[in-house]
Amino acid sequence: MRWIGSDEAGKGDYFGGLAVAAVFLDDEKLSEVEKLPIKESKKVTDVQAIYLSEEIKKLCVHEICYLTPKEYNKLYSRTPNLNHILAWLHSRVVMKLLNNVGDCDRIVIDQFADPDFIRTYFPKGVPLVIHPHGEEDPAVMLASLLARATFLEQLNKLSESEGIVLPKGASTEVELIGKEFVLTKGEHALGRVAKLHFKTTEKLLTTVPHRLWAPWRIEYIAGPRKGGCIFCDAVKNMDKSYVLYRSDRAFVVMNIFPYNNGHLMVAPIRHTGELTELTTEELVEVGRLVQASVEILRKVMHPHGFNIGINSGKVAGAGVVDHVHVHVVPRWLGDTNFMPVIGDTKVISVALDRVYEMLKPEFDKLKL
Ligand SMILES: [Zn+2]
Repeated sequence: MRWIGSDEAGKGDYFGGLAVAAVFLDDEKLSEVEKLPIKESKKVTDVQAIYLSEEIKKLCVHEICYLTPKEYNKLYSRTPNLNHILAWLHSRVVMKLLNNVGDCDRIVIDQFADPDFIRTYFPKGVPLVIHPHGEEDPAVMLASLLARATFLEQLNKLSESEGIVLPKGASTEVELIGKEFVLTKGEHALGRVAKLHFKTTEKLLTTVPHRLWAPWRIEYIAGPRKGGCIFCDAVKNMDKSYVLYRSDRAFVVMNIFPYNNGHLMVAPIRHTGELTELTTEELVEVGRLVQASVEILRKVMHPHGFNIGINSGKVAGAGVVDHVHVHVVPRWLGDTNFMPVIGDTKVISVALDRVYEMLKPEFDKLKL
């Protein structure tokens, strides 16, 4: 008998891509393969799987296809259906292998979806056997080991290139590492290493303080502290400090280390670190300037939404703890692409000047 078995690995793992492998067997090969120390593929450890896969590759004609997380996410965004991606990949590796080895008596696939659905991805006349316990077939078991080894090897490579150990599975550990990853690399980088449609993504992004990737902020955090207060200094030197508007008790200034284009801050004139110490009059003026900032940004820059808020205390992420201020950050869909990810402060200051020129005439019209 001549036959092919195929199986996949990685579909339940948050980190890493998706591997599908197909292996060809005939009676002669089967007797050689049976000499390998394979029990059941699920009882084989990761290290054993990688070792065995090298032996299988030497012995058997095979085909492997691996989708990187980036490729996977791209496919999934076009067709948000895992079974479609799986069926397409299985058909791809099987048909390629079939072309290579010639006619087979059967093609065994471990059942991952409705058999009729899987059949639609294969040409008519291909002798498919779709089996709920496909792994009992030796060709499927070998394919399962190849797919698993490929997935693990690629996950290791990804871990190395990102400098962070990416665990398999979708456990609590995966969430913890995911949070660390987002904090150090930014949420936009997640698509390089993870399958974004997993619920884990939402969990990560709602628990990690929401922020954009803004590497130039490092200078702000690491740069020399001049002493004094950047807000008080800004009001004193209005011409040189990107102040857009000043009323009696509050003012609007551009953040020169922005999270995004058009990132504004509204602060009281009076130097105080506590929101609770503001007078009603100060609160009203700060509030009205937040409103005005939103209206003007909306008119001039057409954002799709805003993040508006106060960081109180260093632990909450406040860069300046002793002069209370409200952040107004315009957001665009996919705005990590809108703002080029750059570390060149010259380019940023050009962008700052451009935004200032766009916003200033509108603030000039404002009467508070
Ligand atoms: Zn101050």
